Amino acid sequence: MKNPALSVLSDDGLVRGYFLNSKELVQQAFDYHKTAPVVTAGLGRLLTAASIMGKTLKSAGDLLTLQIEGDGPVRTLLATADHTGCVKGYAGCPIVDIPLKANGKLDVSGAVGNGYLTVLRDNGEGEPYVSRTQLISGEIAEDITNYYATSEQTPTVCALGVLVDRDYSVKSAGGFLLQLLPGYDDEVVERLEKSLEKVKNVSSMFEHTSNLKIAEALFEGIPFHVTEEWNAEYYCNCSKDRTEKVLISLGKKELASIIEEGNPIEICCHFCDKKYSFDVDEMKKLLFDAVKK
Ligand SMILES: [Zn+2]
Repeated sequence: MKNPALSVLSDDGLVRGYFLNSKELVQQAFDYHKTAPVVTAGLGRLLTAASIMGKTLKSAGDLLTLQIEGDGPVRTLLATADHTGCVKGYAGCPIVDIPLKANGKLDVSGAVGNGYLTVLRDNGEGEPYVSRTQLISGEIAEDITNYYATSEQTPTVCALGVLVDRDYSVKSAGGFLLQLLPGYDDEVVERLEKSLEKVKNVSSMFEHTSNLKIAEALFEGIPFHVTEEWNAEYYCNCSKDRTEKVLISLGKKELASIIEEGNPIEICCHFCDKKYSFDVDEMKKLLFDAVKK
């Protein structure tokens, strides 16, 4: 499996855990977007969180989008996942040059700045569920944890890590989500807190340890069983058809003025960099169909 993932449940049904080793999908994002290391780390963390949270969606066809908008140089980070954990994303500004933090780590919060995390759940019918919370750190994992604390009923801890190698490739990446379910008690909270204290470096944990071993370490003293194993992926479902819709959404006036210029145009997918070109005749047909409607 490329991006192995695992969910577990304590035998008493009070704690749920999701674990994802996302190295390959974060590498895929880097291959598409050629991001600077600090952006690779930020986008990689958001993709990892979105992929895991996608798995918590109720039904097929549901989509979950995490969007971070800040006043830092990266401006926006966005990741969208479906209920199978397939995920795609992009950064508003892929190349950001800011100094490392004093501890030598990539300064993701500096790249993001102050701003908001928006969580969107869309089941394809009616208005999507939207929740917007202020960023508390810009390091993303804390912001996701804070989102759960303020917007959801389920107490949740999120941890994320991406380690970028010297050649800018992704050395390791992963994350986990722990959730307390109704009926939990102080004892289980204390046990988890103790385990979480031992987590110092999430990316190196996923570099050296399997998901199951990480689950065993975090659930120390809490009997549990594996509920599902799956493979997450970076996946873009763009197509020429979908791109046509983007062109039409520009509006008839705008489309007509592009046609008037007489040149073919190229539209590049934000998520996978795939290019779709439209010649003047194709655009005329699109405009004709749009006018007809
Ligand atoms: Zn695409």
